[in-house]
Amino acid sequence: MKVHSFLSLGCADGPGVRSVLFLQGCCLKCAYCHNPDTWFLPGFTEISSREIAERVAKYRPYYGKTGGLTVSGGEPLIQAEELTELFSLLSEMKIHRAIDTSGFCPSLSSGVLSRLLSVTGLVICDIKFSDDAGYQRYCNAPQGAFERIMSFLSSVQDAGCDIWIRHVVLPGITDNIEYISSVFERALAFKSLKRFELLPFRTLCRQKYESLGIEFPMKDTPDCTQEKIQQLYGQIKAGFPAGRDKIP
Ligand code: SF4
Repeated sequence: MKVHSFLSLGCADGPGVRSVLFLQGCCLKCAYCHNPDTWFLPGFTEISSREIAERVAKYRPYYGKTGGLTVSGGEPLIQAEELTELFSLLSEMKIHRAIDTSGFCPSLSSGVLSRLLSVTGLVICDIKFSDDAGYQRYCNAPQGAFERIMSFLSSVQDAGCDIWIRHVVLPGITDNIEYISSVFERALAFKSLKRFELLPFRTLCRQKYESLGIEFPMKDTPDCTQEKIQQLYGQIKAGFPAGRDKIP
Protein backbone atom coordinates (compact mmCIF):
# COMPACT_ATOMS: atom_id res chain seq x y z
CA MET A 1 0.00 0.00 0.00
CA LYS A 2 1.12 3.58 -0.63
CA VAL A 3 1.46 4.86 2.91
CA HIS A 4 1.98 8.45 4.02
CA SER A 5 2.28 7.84 7.78
CA PHE A 6 1.07 5.79 10.74
CA LEU A 7 -0.19 7.14 14.04
CA SER A 8 0.18 4.44 16.70
CA LEU A 9 -2.58 5.56 19.07
CA GLY A 10 -5.16 8.35 19.15
CA CYS A 11 -8.78 8.91 20.06
CA ALA A 12 -10.00 11.52 17.54
CA ASP A 13 -10.74 9.41 14.48
CA GLY A 14 -13.45 6.93 15.38
CA PRO A 15 -14.68 5.12 18.49
CA GLY A 16 -12.30 4.23 21.32
CA VAL A 17 -8.53 4.19 21.16
CA ARG A 18 -7.33 3.68 17.60
CA SER A 19 -4.33 3.54 15.34
CA VAL A 20 -4.61 5.70 12.22
CA LEU A 21 -3.06 4.80 8.89
CA PHE A 22 -2.76 7.73 6.46
CA LEU A 23 -2.60 6.72 2.80
CA GLN A 24 -1.09 8.74 -0.02
CA GLY A 25 -3.06 10.26 -2.91
CA CYS A 26 -6.37 12.13 -3.15
CA CYS A 27 -9.07 12.79 -5.78
CA LEU A 28 -9.87 16.30 -4.51
CA LYS A 29 -7.93 19.44 -3.62
CA CYS A 30 -9.93 21.11 -0.88
CA ALA A 31 -9.09 24.75 -0.25
CA TYR A 32 -8.79 24.07 3.49
CA CYS A 33 -7.05 20.67 3.34
CA HIS A 34 -4.88 19.92 6.39
CA ASN A 35 -2.88 17.24 4.62
CA PRO A 36 -1.71 18.67 1.28
CA ASP A 37 1.39 16.49 1.63
CA THR A 38 -0.83 13.46 0.93
CA TRP A 39 -1.99 14.77 -2.47
CA PHE A 40 0.99 13.68 -4.49
CA LEU A 41 2.05 10.11 -5.05
CA PRO A 42 5.87 10.65 -4.98
CA GLY A 43 7.27 10.38 -1.49
CA PHE A 44 5.11 7.53 -0.21
CA THR A 45 6.34 4.37 1.49
CA GLU A 46 5.21 1.05 0.03
CA ILE A 47 4.15 -1.38 2.77
CA SER A 48 2.27 -4.64 2.25
CA SER A 49 -1.17 -5.17 3.78
CA ARG A 50 0.21 -8.06 5.83
CA GLU A 51 3.02 -5.93 7.30
CA ILE A 52 0.52 -3.24 8.26
CA ALA A 53 -1.81 -5.82 9.83
CA GLU A 54 1.12 -7.19 11.88
CA ARG A 55 2.01 -3.69 13.05
CA VAL A 56 -1.61 -2.93 13.99
CA ALA A 57 -1.91 -6.22 15.90
CA LYS A 58 0.85 -5.04 18.28
CA TYR A 59 -1.44 -2.28 19.55
CA ARG A 60 -4.41 -4.55 20.08
CA PRO A 61 -4.20 -4.49 23.92
CA TYR A 62 -4.80 -0.72 23.81
CA TYR A 63 -7.92 -0.85 21.61
CA GLY A 64 -10.28 -2.26 24.24
CA LYS A 65 -13.78 -3.22 23.11
CA THR A 66 -14.45 -0.28 20.78
CA GLY A 67 -11.07 0.77 19.31
CA GLY A 68 -9.17 -0.51 16.29
CA LEU A 69 -7.74 0.88 13.06
CA THR A 70 -8.96 3.89 11.07
CA VAL A 71 -7.59 4.33 7.56
CA SER A 72 -7.49 7.95 6.44
CA GLY A 73 -5.60 9.99 3.86
CA GLY A 74 -5.47 11.47 1.39
CA GLU A 75 -8.26 9.34 0.04
CA PRO A 76 -8.21 5.70 1.20
CA LEU A 77 -10.76 4.60 -1.44
CA ILE A 78 -8.09 5.03 -4.16
CA GLN A 79 -6.46 1.88 -2.75
CA ALA A 80 -9.71 0.00 -2.14
CA GLU A 81 -8.42 -3.41 -3.24
CA GLU A 82 -5.34 -3.30 -0.99
CA LEU A 83 -7.51 -1.93 1.79
CA THR A 84 -9.91 -4.87 1.42
CA GLU A 85 -6.93 -7.21 1.84
CA LEU A 86 -5.82 -5.36 4.98
CA PHE A 87 -9.31 -5.26 6.49
CA SER A 88 -9.84 -8.95 5.76
CA LEU A 89 -6.70 -9.74 7.78
CA LEU A 90 -7.85 -7.46 10.63
CA SER A 91 -11.32 -8.97 10.52
CA GLU A 92 -9.77 -12.41 11.15
CA MET A 93 -7.99 -10.87 14.16
CA LYS A 94 -11.30 -9.32 15.31
CA ILE A 95 -9.89 -5.78 15.19
CA HIS A 96 -12.46 -3.05 14.38
CA ARG A 97 -11.98 -1.34 11.01
CA ALA A 98 -12.98 2.18 9.96
CA ILE A 99 -12.42 4.31 6.85
CA ASP A 100 -12.18 8.10 7.01
CA THR A 101 -13.08 9.30 3.51
CA SER A 102 -14.42 12.16 1.42
CA GLY A 103 -16.64 9.58 -0.29
CA PHE A 104 -15.41 10.76 -3.69
CA CYS A 105 -13.37 8.34 -5.80
CA PRO A 106 -14.57 8.23 -9.44
CA SER A 107 -12.35 5.27 -10.39
CA LEU A 108 -13.93 2.97 -7.77
CA SER A 109 -16.16 0.24 -9.26
CA SER A 110 -19.27 -0.95 -7.43
CA GLY A 111 -17.86 -4.49 -7.18
CA VAL A 112 -14.62 -3.34 -5.53
CA LEU A 113 -16.55 -1.04 -3.19
CA SER A 114 -18.93 -3.81 -2.21
CA ARG A 115 -16.04 -6.16 -1.32
CA LEU A 116 -14.40 -3.42 0.76
CA LEU A 117 -17.61 -2.59 2.62
CA SER A 118 -18.17 -6.26 3.42
CA VAL A 119 -15.11 -6.12 5.73
CA THR A 120 -15.60 -2.55 7.04
CA GLY A 121 -17.33 -1.70 10.32
CA LEU A 122 -17.58 2.09 10.14
CA VAL A 123 -17.34 4.76 7.44
CA ILE A 124 -16.52 8.27 8.61
CA CYS A 125 -17.41 10.60 5.74
CA ASP A 126 -16.62 14.30 5.52
CA ILE A 127 -19.55 16.07 3.92
CA LYS A 128 -17.77 19.25 2.93
CA PHE A 129 -20.69 21.06 1.32
CA SER A 130 -24.40 20.38 0.95
CA ASP A 131 -24.47 20.98 -2.79
CA ASP A 132 -22.43 20.51 -5.92
CA ALA A 133 -21.56 24.21 -6.26
CA GLY A 134 -19.58 24.14 -2.98
CA TYR A 135 -17.61 21.07 -4.06
CA GLN A 136 -16.79 22.63 -7.40
CA ARG A 137 -15.78 25.97 -5.93
CA TYR A 138 -13.76 24.88 -2.90
CA CYS A 139 -12.69 21.26 -3.58
CA ASN A 140 -11.71 21.34 -7.24
CA ALA A 141 -14.37 18.68 -7.80
CA PRO A 142 -16.01 17.95 -11.14
CA GLN A 143 -19.73 18.43 -11.73
CA GLY A 144 -21.82 15.73 -10.06
CA ALA A 145 -19.38 15.06 -7.17
CA PHE A 146 -21.97 15.74 -4.47
CA GLU A 147 -24.49 13.24 -5.86
CA ARG A 148 -21.70 10.65 -6.23
CA ILE A 149 -20.90 11.09 -2.53
CA MET A 150 -24.57 10.68 -1.58
CA SER A 151 -24.71 7.53 -3.71
CA PHE A 152 -21.53 6.24 -2.02
CA LEU A 153 -23.18 6.75 1.39
CA SER A 154 -26.28 4.87 0.21
CA SER A 155 -24.02 1.93 -0.70
CA VAL A 156 -22.41 2.14 2.75
CA GLN A 157 -25.83 2.04 4.37
CA ASP A 158 -27.00 -0.86 2.19
CA ALA A 159 -23.86 -2.81 3.14
CA GLY A 160 -24.80 -2.48 6.83
CA CYS A 161 -21.81 -0.35 7.91
CA ASP A 162 -22.20 2.35 10.55
CA ILE A 163 -21.87 5.94 9.32
CA TRP A 164 -20.38 8.98 11.00
CA ILE A 165 -20.68 12.29 9.17
CA ARG A 166 -18.26 15.14 9.78
CA HIS A 167 -18.26 18.69 8.54
CA VAL A 168 -15.44 21.25 8.86
CA VAL A 169 -17.01 24.59 9.75
CA LEU A 170 -15.54 27.32 7.53
CA PRO A 171 -15.78 30.89 8.86
CA GLY A 172 -17.64 33.17 6.47
CA ILE A 173 -18.68 30.20 4.29
CA THR A 174 -20.51 27.49 6.27
CA ASP A 175 -20.51 28.86 9.84
CA ASN A 176 -24.20 29.66 9.99
CA ILE A 177 -27.09 27.52 11.23
CA GLU A 178 -28.89 27.55 7.88
CA TYR A 179 -25.90 25.94 6.18
CA ILE A 180 -25.13 23.50 9.00
CA SER A 181 -28.80 22.47 9.09
CA SER A 182 -28.69 21.67 5.38
CA VAL A 183 -25.66 19.39 5.95
CA PHE A 184 -27.29 17.77 9.01
CA GLU A 185 -30.50 17.15 7.07
CA ARG A 186 -28.57 15.31 4.35
CA ALA A 187 -26.76 13.29 7.04
CA LEU A 188 -30.00 12.33 8.82
CA ALA A 189 -31.30 10.79 5.60
CA PHE A 190 -28.96 7.84 6.27
CA LYS A 191 -30.54 5.50 8.80
CA SER A 192 -27.21 4.01 9.84
CA LEU A 193 -25.93 7.46 10.88
CA LYS A 194 -24.49 7.06 14.38
CA ARG A 195 -22.76 10.40 14.86
CA PHE A 196 -22.66 13.90 13.40
CA GLU A 197 -19.59 15.99 14.19
CA LEU A 198 -18.63 19.58 13.50
CA LEU A 199 -14.90 20.27 13.31
CA PRO A 200 -13.44 23.76 13.49
CA PHE A 201 -11.42 25.10 10.53
CA ARG A 202 -7.82 25.73 11.59
CA THR A 203 -4.87 27.41 9.87
CA LEU A 204 -2.27 25.25 11.67
CA CYS A 205 -1.39 23.64 8.34
CA ARG A 206 -0.11 26.92 6.86
CA GLN A 207 3.52 25.86 7.30
CA LYS A 208 2.93 22.62 5.41
CA TYR A 209 1.74 24.63 2.40
CA GLU A 210 4.74 26.95 2.66
CA SER A 211 7.21 24.08 2.78
CA LEU A 212 5.53 22.41 -0.22
CA GLY A 213 5.53 25.72 -2.14
CA ILE A 214 1.74 25.55 -2.58
CA GLU A 215 -0.56 28.52 -2.16
CA PHE A 216 -2.91 28.00 0.83
CA PRO A 217 -6.15 29.47 -0.52
CA MET A 218 -7.65 30.04 2.94
CA LYS A 219 -4.56 31.40 4.68
CA ASP A 220 -6.35 34.66 5.55
CA THR A 221 -9.49 32.99 6.90
CA PRO A 222 -9.65 33.17 10.73
CA ASP A 223 -9.77 29.96 12.78
CA CYS A 224 -13.23 28.74 13.76
CA THR A 225 -13.64 28.91 17.55
CA GLN A 226 -14.89 26.16 19.90
CA GLU A 227 -17.55 28.63 21.08
CA LYS A 228 -18.89 28.78 17.52
CA ILE A 229 -18.95 24.99 17.29
CA GLN A 230 -20.85 24.71 20.59
CA GLN A 231 -23.28 27.41 19.50
CA LEU A 232 -24.01 25.53 16.25
CA TYR A 233 -24.48 22.21 18.11
CA GLY A 234 -26.96 23.97 20.43
CA GLN A 235 -28.88 25.39 17.49
CA ILE A 236 -29.04 22.01 15.74
CA LYS A 237 -30.27 20.33 18.93
CA ALA A 238 -32.99 22.96 19.26
CA GLY A 239 -34.03 22.68 15.62
CA PHE A 240 -33.81 18.89 15.18
CA PRO A 241 -34.96 17.27 18.45
CA ALA A 242 -35.28 13.88 16.72
CA GLY A 243 -31.63 14.02 15.61
CA ARG A 244 -30.16 14.99 18.98
CA ASP A 245 -28.74 11.60 19.80
CA LYS A 246 -26.43 11.79 16.75
CA ILE A 247 -24.61 14.85 18.10
CA PRO A 248 -21.76 14.42 20.61
S1 SF4 B 1 -10.47 15.09 0.52
FE1 SF4 B 1 -9.33 15.32 2.44
S2 SF4 B 1 -7.19 14.88 1.93
FE2 SF4 B 1 -8.28 15.25 -0.01
S3 SF4 B 1 -7.97 17.41 -0.43
FE3 SF4 B 1 -9.92 17.24 0.66
S4 SF4 B 1 -9.42 17.53 2.83
FE4 SF4 B 1 -7.48 17.08 1.72
